Amino acid sequence: MSMTRPRPRLDDLTRPFWTGGAKGLLLIQHCPSCDGWTHPPLPLCRHCGREDHGFAAVPGTGTVDSFTVNHQPWLPGMEVPFIIARVAIDGAPGVYLTTNIVGCEEADLAAGDRVRVTFEEQGDIHFPLFEKAK
Ligand SMILES: [Zn+2]
Repeated sequence: MSMTRPRPRLDDLTRPFWTGGAKGLLLIQHCPSCDGWTHPPLPLCRHCGREDHGFAAVPGTGTVDSFTVNHQPWLPGMEVPFIIARVAIDGAPGVYLTTNIVGCEEADLAAGDRVRVTFEEQGDIHFPLFEKAK
């Protein structure tokens, strides 16, 4: 599946998350001080307030927490329907990504399903989408 997606704004704070896919990595903001994970990226660690935290790669797998199906083409070129899911990210306790599940139909997906990341490249952005783990 390929479609027009709203382009996220890239800055020093968000760039690692949106471009890690170029190296095949799902990068989540991680604080070496308290071992806390933060998403979406914030200037300060949401757990301890430290400023100089960075990013770390997680395995790229996760579990579907909940999902819904969008039937509305919000933008020109948007292909519907598509699945919007909240995925609990392995290796980053407390982090959920709101993302799309690709390569599967609504009827084949259930909360609790295991998924893994697949990146959709659009220029320098690599959108982290998920597909069902085999
Ligand atoms: Zn911290």
